[in-house]
Amino acid sequence: MKITFPHMGNTYIAAKGLLEDLGNEVVLAPRCSKRTLELGTKYSPESICLPLKINIGNYIESIEKGADTIIITGSCGPCRFGFYPIMEQALLNDLGYDVNIISLDPPDGKPMILIRRIMEAMNTSNLYKIIRSGRKAFKIICDADELTDLANKKRPIAVNSFQVDMIMEEFYKDIEYTHGVQEILLLIEKTKTRLNEVEIDPEKKPIRIGIIGEIYTIIEPFVNLDIEKKLGHLGAEIEKALTPSNWARHYIFSFPFGSKEEKNKWKAARPYLSTLVGGHGRETIGSAVQYAQEGFDGLVQIFPLTCMPEIVAESILPAIQRDYNIPILTLVVDEMTGEAGYLTRLEAFVDLLKRRREDKNNERILFRS
Ligand code: SF4
Repeated sequence: MKITFPHMGNTYIAAKGLLEDLGNEVVLAPRCSKRTLELGTKYSPESICLPLKINIGNYIESIEKGADTIIITGSCGPCRFGFYPIMEQALLNDLGYDVNIISLDPPDGKPMILIRRIMEAMNTSNLYKIIRSGRKAFKIICDADELTDLANKKRPIAVNSFQVDMIMEEFYKDIEYTHGVQEILLLIEKTKTRLNEVEIDPEKKPIRIGIIGEIYTIIEPFVNLDIEKKLGHLGAEIEKALTPSNWARHYIFSFPFGSKEEKNKWKAARPYLSTLVGGHGRETIGSAVQYAQEGFDGLVQIFPLTCMPEIVAESILPAIQRDYNIPILTLVVDEMTGEAGYLTRLEAFVDLLKRRREDKNNERILFRS
């Protein structure tokens, strides 16, 4: 069995460590590229949301490298993600690929089915081994998210912000040749040390931007056109509302009750949206309120074209913008998104936020004198 899985931010690092720890052969899909997008767009329904197109591109590139089994997480929620495993299996079969997709769906009242699928995916019936390796994989995902977060904090205050990119680029290259949990954790630790050694300019006072929206678009750099890097180089410190470690904490380690962090988002969203609208639409609203209350300078909502839950959230965000006096920029991405126009919008937004910060500081000085 040669196992692969789609790219989704840092999740592939933990999945690789987990499966290798259990003695499986992993075929890592090449990092998402223009070719991945072209393959996915060519063979997927035109109006389907972007994550499925990238998934299909990832699978084809992995199958070309010898993969025969695909593992993905599933969802029973009211959004297209719930249909992904069935649609993807049908698409790949139509293309003549003989692969098996194992979908790790939430139990839906039948936990035994999920347990059987997990055993099949991990290629072992030893539950103790799976749980032990799962805990280690969770450590990887938490550490990898901390690493990304550290890079995002360093970039806007570094003397040379491109040094941060260089260190992270080397990390992503090295991870392909690093095997098993221990080696991966060591590499993450070494990279953190390197980032901490990057020289910073204490005069720089970055503006703070919260990134909210659809989870896949937030965490997969190819899909969001490296928004973290772009905003970092423009002098903004960013924080992502959704990360793979948050997701795992909420859906796996706090099952069936959910994590406190996510439930707090639902509470914050309640005055504007009190019910589940699929995907992470309710979390988008809750995070927007929380970031506004924490004094962030601005928010960027990002989601794929035709994403239903985020369209609902988008229609509510102007109320939060008005109530909390916080600028919110919405970016919609698909395979046609042009990088130049995208960057121009980010530059204009950052300029606006910097100007507002200056005006507020000037008002404060005038008020004191
Ligand atoms: S959340 Fe949006 S982009 Fe993601 S699967 Fe659902 S509809 Fe598609």
